[in-house]
Amino acid sequence: MECEICGADAVISTNNGTLCAEHFKQRFEEITLSTIKKYRLIKKGEKIAVANSGGKDSLSLLYILSKYFKKSNEIVSITIDEGIKGYRDKTIEIMKDYCGRYGVDYRIYSYKDFTGQTMDSITKTRSGIPCSACGVLRRHLINYAASEVHADKVATAHNMDDEAENVIMNLVQNDVDKMVRLGAYSGIIKEEGFVPRIKPFLFLSEKETMLFSMLNDINAIHTPCPYAGMGFRGLISRKIKQMETEFTGSKRNIIDAMLEIKKIYAVKTGIKINKCRYCGFPSANDICEACKLKNELGNGPAI
Ligand code: SF4
Ligand SMILES: [Zn+2]
Ligand SMILES: [Zn+2]
Repeated sequence: MECEICGADAVISTNNGTLCAEHFKQRFEEITLSTIKKYRLIKKGEKIAVANSGGKDSLSLLYILSKYFKKSNEIVSITIDEGIKGYRDKTIEIMKDYCGRYGVDYRIYSYKDFTGQTMDSITKTRSGIPCSACGVLRRHLINYAASEVHADKVATAHNMDDEAENVIMNLVQNDVDKMVRLGAYSGIIKEEGFVPRIKPFLFLSEKETMLFSMLNDINAIHTPCPYAGMGFRGLISRKIKQMETEFTGSKRNIIDAMLEIKKIYAVKTGIKINKCRYCGFPSANDICEACKLKNELGNGPAI
């Protein structure tokens, strides 16, 4: 297999091309920058908070944003510590090392400080799939962290695989309102109290982000969270992978279809966002899911 640009040995072949290591790295960065440009994700002077787990995807994102936007924008790294022993504690060390080496300001926000419990203890005391509670808390804390550092946007390293899973999960749950909030730029209307999320890796696959981090010597661990793969998301993830093997391009088609629906939905009127009675963040209900969970775990407002 030869690189389509220079004829050297190719290291990857995807919809984005058959490329050698150097041309792959170049193409990866070009796709990221063209996504940022096409969807106007970053404007000059904006403060960008990078949601940084210390994993390969978020470190790769921090690497590219620092490389191209450090002069024109302020970049800060925010990390959510779920409290998962043997996993997040390790990636946090990697994150600290990376930010220290490249002079990036970082902040850490933990579930323990917010709810009084770590994710490990929540899984012991609370029934249900760990990822459901974890997702609610992470979304909330990322918004809290971004508001606290006065960021204009939060950049997340969600890739094509993650987004395709989100689309299908929302479809299966018949939640179109939630689905149209996906895409390179979150939401379809400006929501007071919500720091917009941007996803510069939206059109790059898991396989590509993994290779990019390896080729750039980004020292990330590749072991998954011990609770990953359980429940609904795990099922959807396996099915999408199977579909992609049999019908190449399925993941990209799922995302393109969602973006088309989002465009049509954008003209729909009457979308109203409530505010949570306790934290003031946007919420579909009077009390947001995070505040309900915080209360349930014994560290929240009396409801
Ligand atoms: S896999 Fe689930 S439990 Fe683990 S960090 Fe992700 S959302 Fe949380
Ligand atoms: Zn080449
Ligand atoms: Zn709330």
